[in-house]
Amino acid sequence: MNKKLLHTVLFAWFRKHGRILPWRMRELSALHKAKKISKTKVSVLRDSTIASYFTTKWNRDPYTIIVSELMLQQTQVDRVLPKFESFIRKWPTVHDLSKAKLSEVLIEWKGLGYNRRAKFLHEMAHAVVHTHKGNFPKTEEELRKLSGVGEYTARAVLTFAYGKDIGVVDTNIRRIFSRVMFGKEAGQVDISTKEFFAVIDQSVPRGKGDPWNQALMDFGALVCTAKAPKCDVCPLQTVCIANLSEQKHGFRNYADSLATKNKKINIKKSGAKKIPFKQADRYFRGKVIDILRDGHQHMEKLYQQVERDHKLRDKKRWGNIIESLMIDGLIAIRGSTVSLA
Ligand code: SF4
Repeated sequence: MNKKLLHTVLFAWFRKHGRILPWRMRELSALHKAKKISKTKVSVLRDSTIASYFTTKWNRDPYTIIVSELMLQQTQVDRVLPKFESFIRKWPTVHDLSKAKLSEVLIEWKGLGYNRRAKFLHEMAHAVVHTHKGNFPKTEEELRKLSGVGEYTARAVLTFAYGKDIGVVDTNIRRIFSRVMFGKEAGQVDISTKEFFAVIDQSVPRGKGDPWNQALMDFGALVCTAKAPKCDVCPLQTVCIANLSEQKHGFRNYADSLATKNKKINIKKSGAKKIPFKQADRYFRGKVIDILRDGHQHMEKLYQQVERDHKLRDKKRWGNIIESLMIDGLIAIRGSTVSLA
């Protein structure tokens, strides 16, 4: 595909429809201002924020990038927004976070789920302050040594904080490239992950890694979505291989073909047995942490509360859940008392 065309089309779309998100702002104070001003002014702020990605060389704080990326790993943007703001207000810098107790971070994490991420952030802050003298590493290899930072998050820091021209390969971006360039769904493309990453890296326009990755992320979240892509209004509909090939097969667009396939898959799936979330270990682990956020508990009383309120009636399973929380370093047990670590 013609890269120049791809850049022109997606950047034009991004300037018009890009999202305003606090971790993208030059200063968080701009966000607080945005809350107090009128809708017209918010749109002016959005336009100027997006324009700044294209015109200014500036660094965002790697700390806020990592906090937002960890929060976003398994939680939707709408739920992350208020938690991100209050987290950053409480610990505005990595130094502040490094001084906090893990139990405080776990309390603040309430509502986000997957509590291990709070522990990772806490460990990351310690490592940056004590091992790296307060400076975030600047290579992918070093960044990945930090707790909770995998390939995706390291690349996000490199491009969003340091302006490196590399791809940030999240599920949205993987999906867009799979459809637009290969006419398939992510995971069905016949090339290795390394080759796929190379295609994504090569697509990054020079000096514009930051807005390019943001544009792709927004495009994947708002237009080329997983289940119901909006091919009808998509600015890439005339060049997207998935769309063109399904049109050749008689479908109106790729979205219609995908809906037909998904319908068949859902019929098959409805026969399969699925464990309800409220019976999963993850659910009970979350409930234990929720209870401990209000203070330490006697082990037996804690079990009785989980048994009564959340219907966990299996002492062996209870033991495994408590053990897994201990192994993950989220809780501490002293005698018969359990508390957040
Ligand atoms: S035409 Fe449809 S599948 Fe192709 S990029 Fe646009 S939204 Fe995605």
